[in-house]
Amino acid sequence: MTQQTRPRLASHSLDLPNHCDICNKARSHGNHKSCSRIRQQRQSVCWETYMANVEAKRAKKVRRYA
Ligand SMILES: [Zn+2]
Repeated sequence: MTQQTRPRLASHSLDLPNHCDICNKARSHGNHKSCSRIRQQRQSVCWETYMANVEAKRAKKVRRYA
């Protein structure tokens, strides 16, 4: 594997799961071309929602322990 040369993301360590998040099958198994297309469509919406959630959770946590 030569993936170690890949640069890390600055703010978030984004580990990709071993399973496809679209069809829930192993990424190394089967064809996920359509999955990645679906993912790209979802991503713009989902990613914003996800990030908003993360920010909200973080804000809540900080407030809870403050
Ligand atoms: Zn898939």
